Amino acid sequence: MKKVYLETFGCQMNVSDSERVATQLEKDGYEITPSEDLADVILFNTCSVREKAENKLYSRIGEVRSAKNVNNSNQPIVGVLGCVAQLEGEILFQRNQKIDFVLGTKAVGRISSAIENVRNGNDSFFDLAEREENYDWSVSKTQMFSSHVGFVPIIEGCNKFCTYCIVPFSRGREKSLAPDEIIKQVLRLRQEGIKEIHLIGQNVNSYRPKTEEGLENFHGATPFSKLLRAVAATGLERIKFTTSFPRDFHPDIIDAINENENLCNWVHLPVQSGSNNVLKAMRRGHTIESYIEKVVKIKSSARKISLTTDFIIGFPNETDQDFQATLDLIKYCEFDSSYIFKYSPRPGTPAFKMVDNVSPKEKTNRFLELEKVQRIYQQKALQSSIGKSVEILVEKFSSKNEAELSGHTSCQKVVNFKCFDDLIGKIVKVKITSSKLNTLFGEIS
Ligand code: SAM
Ligand code: SF4
Repeated sequence: MKKVYLETFGCQMNVSDSERVATQLEKDGYEITPSEDLADVILFNTCSVREKAENKLYSRIGEVRSAKNVNNSNQPIVGVLGCVAQLEGEILFQRNQKIDFVLGTKAVGRISSAIENVRNGNDSFFDLAEREENYDWSVSKTQMFSSHVGFVPIIEGCNKFCTYCIVPFSRGREKSLAPDEIIKQVLRLRQEGIKEIHLIGQNVNSYRPKTEEGLENFHGATPFSKLLRAVAATGLERIKFTTSFPRDFHPDIIDAINENENLCNWVHLPVQSGSNNVLKAMRRGHTIESYIEKVVKIKSSARKISLTTDFIIGFPNETDQDFQATLDLIKYCEFDSSYIFKYSPRPGTPAFKMVDNVSPKEKTNRFLELEKVQRIYQQKALQSSIGKSVEILVEKFSSKNEAELSGHTSCQKVVNFKCFDDLIGKIVKVKITSSKLNTLFGEIS
């Protein structure tokens, strides 16, 4: 049986695509191996959101091609999938002669025929075409990234064209999956014993299917809140969704969470900057005032919804004053946690033509300052759980301490606790006793 090693970079959508690539390969008689040394085929599912992620691909290809494959006298076939593949296409063969085939973001369902093509001697095979009409969105349980958390894509692509972002070019226009297809996937996961699902999309709340088949009984204001209610009605224990786009974040999403215990109390709402000047230059489509209105609605919920965000620092022309406004926003919103990124110019985006005029040193200073302020509110949020009993889904042994089990709360905080019983896959109550930088610690209660 031919062995395939699959490495994934980037967002949950890539992880989810990789789950289906592995499912397809398994169906077609390949074995997925965790060892690149033993592999006959090496696949990289790539990310192009920042330059760093893209460069990582090239260094990884160099590594696997120069490594000695002790148990494999033939060099493995190397395939590039995902966002870099979609953007660069055929040019990748000139840029790196060690690549055998390239498969775009919508072509991943045809993975086995791509490998076959190379085996038959076509070593510069590429396919950047659309998804098949009958594309199979299901994932085999053996190929899930986490055996206990299921990813369910509900919308792909992006129509927003923020000036810095490559995603609309790598992932194409927004396309929502049919509600009945989504409900079918959720019911299948529930039947398999999965307790938590994440509805995913670049902008999950921009969900707008062509027909509302399956949503007729739900009279919320927006298709996304109707979908949330329909998914909640399946009875699956925990439903999370990410990432939300601020302009499309309507109050009825919070109403749906308030009305359904199994819709988890976590919202990831990337703001990017606290300055209206920067937001305008980024073409985000929201202002700080409109963002704060949404935050007020989120914080007004009795469910104590955890709020997390993304920031980009060092966007062209970001002044000290703009940056100060971002610090002020953190103090106002008290985000539970955030991802902070240094602006990375992406060829082909409108911002690429602007002068990247915040120096690397200044970017680093701002990054560290923002991280320091964010840490205060992250600690505050974590410490507010101490002494409380919280439900966690136990997912695995802790990576840092094998004597501890690890899982997430409904509001997406990591909890580690000592326990000798086999609780993996179960939802249990844990009393929180202490916290560290990113983690809560507790004991079974
Ligand atoms: N669609 C989501 C939204 O708009 O809120 C975000 C999806 S994007 C793939 C994830 C994050 O990557 C963004 O929120 C942004 O912070 C970051 N990002 C995107 N382009 C970037 C760039 N050129 N440089 C640095 N960070 C970037
Ligand atoms: Fe990128 Fe903006 Fe689309 Fe998010 S909304 S994926 S940041 S273009």
